Amino acid sequence: MPTCRFCQTDLAHTLIDLGMSPLCESFLSREQLNQMEPFYPLHVYVCARCFLVQVEQYVAPDHIFTEYAYFSSYSDSWLRHASAYVDMITARLGLGPRHHVVELGSNDGYLLQYFVKKGIPVLGVEPARNVAAAAVARGVPTVSRLFGRETARDLVAEGHAADLIAGNNVLAQVPDVNDFIGGIATLLRPTGVVTIEFPHLERLLDENQFDTIYHEHFSYFSFSTAERLFAAHGLTLFDVEELPTHGGSLRIYGRHAGDTSRPVTERASALRAREETGGLNGLARYASFTEQVHETKRRLLDFLIAAKRQGKSVVGYGAPGKGNTLLNYCGIRTDFLDYTVDRNPYKHGKFTPGTHIPIHPPERIAETRPDYVLILPWNLKDEIIEQMASIRAWGGQFVVPIPDVKVH
Ligand SMILES: [Zn+2]
Repeated sequence: MPTCRFCQTDLAHTLIDLGMSPLCESFLSREQLNQMEPFYPLHVYVCARCFLVQVEQYVAPDHIFTEYAYFSSYSDSWLRHASAYVDMITARLGLGPRHHVVELGSNDGYLLQYFVKKGIPVLGVEPARNVAAAAVARGVPTVSRLFGRETARDLVAEGHAADLIAGNNVLAQVPDVNDFIGGIATLLRPTGVVTIEFPHLERLLDENQFDTIYHEHFSYFSFSTAERLFAAHGLTLFDVEELPTHGGSLRIYGRHAGDTSRPVTERASALRAREETGGLNGLARYASFTEQVHETKRRLLDFLIAAKRQGKSVVGYGAPGKGNTLLNYCGIRTDFLDYTVDRNPYKHGKFTPGTHIPIHPPERIAETRPDYVLILPWNLKDEIIEQMASIRAWGGQFVVPIPDVKVH
């Protein structure tokens, strides 16, 4: 039986079993379509002791991360989010040229570039070599390493102890959470602050966001479970914000337990109380998720079958990781979606893993004039509906699959 990656308790409780699925970022070239394709179980457990929701790690992280296809800078709204964060945290902590900022999972430098513009020294830590190289090319100093205690000790020795450690959408992808948070405690100066953003497990459960589950995301956190994890490494969460990003995220603020200069805020206590009331610290809350996901699948297939019976054409917009969980779990291939499009040129000419749907540039939609455009990165639906408003000219409509199938 697998054990919890935080507290080592046996994982005896299933949150949802999404069956067999390929790694969601392993887009295929045309030649690869004729080869065998590895599928792994996508079975999600909840720990009965610490309530960490998690999938087993089937593939070594260096296999997943050395050639990663996701470049943060291809999303306008994500860039705006990063820029606003940098303005906010620079003012809140009074950061300047004598401080040092380290971002974990710094991707292509999409966030640190805004600190660089303010003259604040930065270092990015990004395991994917191709993505780290893109950051360096845009003037963001970046080391290509997996982060943990050993990397943290090396960085401190090289003079990179941090006044601010930021990590956005990286915690879910950490195979050894104890080594990672231990590394943060090592790297953080005595009065330093760490902020981490991650999708909130409460929103995943409440809004059917099962498609945000994939093999590359090992862990799914409530605020309460994050508090337990940080506390185990001598770090106190003293504040938290709820953000709309990725369907509903938390931005947690941590500091060393001994640094009492930053008292725990009302917001942190209130969220902890809300999760307690909402049952996130008990198994019963997790038991109903499976039926909820089954029903979401039936509703999406109902819509697609009806549309195809009426002779309508349906294409996808976006080829995000979450799209691949949805497509594989629901069995949606070119029988339903003619193709999908993505702004990331890395994906053009490739095919979605498992379902083999071709990926084209967005211009393709204007050429083929589909009746429906299924938005796979539903967290960006407002941005996409605005960008692609021209489909209205031929009566095209947008379809958003999560939390409920909805036509716009
Ligand atoms: Zn546990």
